[in-house]
Amino acid sequence: MVPELKIKDLKASVEDKEILKGVNLTVKGGEMHALMGPNGAGKSTLGNVLIGHPNYKITGGSIVLDGIDLTDKTPEERARAGLFLAFQSPVAVVGVKLSTFLRTAYRQTHPEDKVTLTEFYDRMKVHMKKVGLDESFMSRSVNDGFSGGERKRFEILQMVMLRPKIIILDEIDSGLDVDALKLVADEIRDYYSENVGFLIITHYQRILKNIEPQFVHVLKDGKIAVDGDNKLSLRIEEEGYDWIKN
Ligand code: ADP
Ligand code: MG
Repeated sequence: MVPELKIKDLKASVEDKEILKGVNLTVKGGEMHALMGPNGAGKSTLGNVLIGHPNYKITGGSIVLDGIDLTDKTPEERARAGLFLAFQSPVAVVGVKLSTFLRTAYRQTHPEDKVTLTEFYDRMKVHMKKVGLDESFMSRSVNDGFSGGERKRFEILQMVMLRPKIIILDEIDSGLDVDALKLVADEIRDYYSENVGFLIITHYQRILKNIEPQFVHVLKDGKIAVDGDNKLSLRIEEEGYDWIKN
């Protein structure tokens, strides 16, 4: 079944301040969407609200994945349903080995899969190579002392290993040099299929040149102010966001 995420009139606040003011967006399998917008528009808030981050409160609207209402579900239930967010600023989890972290997350999201530890780690090593992380990272604490670029590579490793259906990448391109960006873009393209939908949050056209989304949306002041195709991202590169009305 082709997955479908339906975000309807979504409103959310953080610390009693309303940030999302009615977001409407549908992402289906086989679709690549880019979400752009000025600093502070609420892009990361949208990502966090979608995966159920506890700091954010949904005050209206709904999040539905494949007909299942996730609006009031826990982050674990949303992950099991197939939602994944690569964080803009991933945090360190000191004392938890990267390999253990991924294995645990996989077990939680795919309790039915009887894959052996060896098979899982073998698959992991293949993808570590593809994203450019040395195998020695398996025994390091999650993100502890990782450079910005290493954190981003690890986010993409999580994505391919956890096999989500709807993927939100929050500024996956920031902190990556040109070569790393190419590896990450290749891994995104390899994972892309009719069975997965992407929402790629970015400020820059450069990753969109590698990925070519079919849909581009601009979030401004907590609402999607304009929709278009990849030409819209080129216009933003040239003219910024000022021409877009709230
Ligand atoms: P963007 O990702 O588009 O740059 P954000 O979603 O990060 O924007 O932020 C939108 C607004 O929400 C900003 O004014 C930001 O300060 C505020 N905000 C986001 N998260 C928090 C938080 N945890 N605590 C307080 N304010 C927050
Ligand atoms: Mg952000």
